[in-house]
Amino acid sequence: MPQRCVFCGTASEPGEVYCCCGCAAELPWVENRCARCAIPVATPLRDGVDCANCQQCPPPFIAAATPLRYTFPIDAAIKAMKFRRRLYYVPAFSPMLMKTMACLPKDVDALLAVPLHWRRHATRGFNQAVELCKPLQKLTGLPMLANVKRIRSTPYQSGLDADERRRNLRAAFAIQGSVIARHVLIVDDVITTGETCRQLANVVLAAGAQKVSVLAIARA
Ligand SMILES: [Zn+2]
Ligand SMILES: [Zn+2]
Repeated sequence: MPQRCVFCGTASEPGEVYCCCGCAAELPWVENRCARCAIPVATPLRDGVDCANCQQCPPPFIAAATPLRYTFPIDAAIKAMKFRRRLYYVPAFSPMLMKTMACLPKDVDALLAVPLHWRRHATRGFNQAVELCKPLQKLTGLPMLANVKRIRSTPYQSGLDADERRRNLRAAFAIQGSVIARHVLIVDDVITTGETCRQLANVVLAAGAQKVSVLAIARA
């Protein structure tokens, strides 16, 4: 079977893997982002300057990046991956994640896929963040932390405003034992408000990590 583009279904030309050149040119790439929270910005920020939001309320992580914005067709692709098990998107996304990881600090020494509650994991059958993290682990050789759990089964986040999300996520994560890594990279599919990453980063920092960064496919 010839390889096909995951976005348009066109048979791949030599050199194209999982995403054809036409689709790659049309995807909603992030051009300028806040280096701290990954929010796309219209004009580039000066080096070392964070967005107004981060200046007002600095997140517990030091850097975040996503290759794409969470708009069509990436929103549809991520939903299909998560809710309809379209895991063939994973190999299309992993080179994008690898490339974007190069924008993050170089001293990352462990990966952490955002955990799913066991009940959600049981219904879905997989954790999309773990699936996205596996190729990164293979390519970087970094360990994946496995002692962080989601202790509260939280209702779906979509449709909640920022305050509701915050309440919804309170004490959602717990660590068994400590974190030996110094700089943990949180990996997820989407950064929506950043609240999940804030919560998880705080837990990881309280357990002994010194720094946290965040990498995801798309930023809302
Ligand atoms: Zn295509
Ligand atoms: Zn920011």
